Amino acid sequence: MRNMRLKQMGQWLFAALGFALFAGCASAPKGAALTQINTIDSLLAGVYDGQFALRDLQRHGDFGIGTFDRLDGEMLMFDGRIYQIKADGKAYTPALGTTTPFASVVRFTPSRTIEMGKSSLEELCATVDTLAPNRNVFAAVMVRGEFARVHTRSVPAQQKPYRPLAEVTKNQPEFKRENVKGTLVGFRLPAYVKGINVPGYHLHFVSDDLKFGGHLLDLELARGTLSLAQIHRLYMILPGNSGAFAQADLAKDRAAELNETESAKSRR
Ligand SMILES: [Zn+2]
Repeated sequence: MRNMRLKQMGQWLFAALGFALFAGCASAPKGAALTQINTIDSLLAGVYDGQFALRDLQRHGDFGIGTFDRLDGEMLMFDGRIYQIKADGKAYTPALGTTTPFASVVRFTPSRTIEMGKSSLEELCATVDTLAPNRNVFAAVMVRGEFARVHTRSVPAQQKPYRPLAEVTKNQPEFKRENVKGTLVGFRLPAYVKGINVPGYHLHFVSDDLKFGGHLLDLELARGTLSLAQIHRLYMILPGNSGAFAQADLAKDRAAELNETESAKSRR
């Protein structure tokens, strides 16, 4: 009798657990996850050694931005292809064995696509904010078209001992082009990702002729197609075997360093 009751209880528990799992799945947000390698603060702290091969990164998405081993340039990924904008401002195709110390990628399925005319960077961001008003979820943003003006920067590969990112970016090469066709790729992330990723807009550019690109500082769009996708899931991959990562001081508030690094226009 007692065994019978235990058996019944077991069946009930199993059924309840099954229901809970089902209910959990039913309410889980659908769609692609933003996968990110490492944290932005560890990059700010100088953890520049690549940890994750590009061929593995491609398993997590076909669209995104990041950097390369030793900070050797700016990364763009779209349509599954990866571009490396080196310190000469030109785009290269990296070998898939190349590694990254920091990247954010997603499988990009746009939910909104609109045609845009002449727009400043501020107007472009305002349009994204209108189309995707929920600032508390992630947005992946792509613009393909003709740009009246684009201002970018890239970064040369670093040598050990690595200097902090805010120091490296003080003397980095900047590039400007007018009347250039190309693709802008990146994300708008919520304020609460501070420490993990870059709050606000973080965009990279590459020209169609692959002769120009980098981390976007400013632009003026002539005309183009804006596509965006909202993302409700985050998947993080942290370095397991990196002494530099293990020893990085990630308790420190690096918001001021990030601001200096990401948003500064030319100081020259
Ligand atoms: Zn960047």
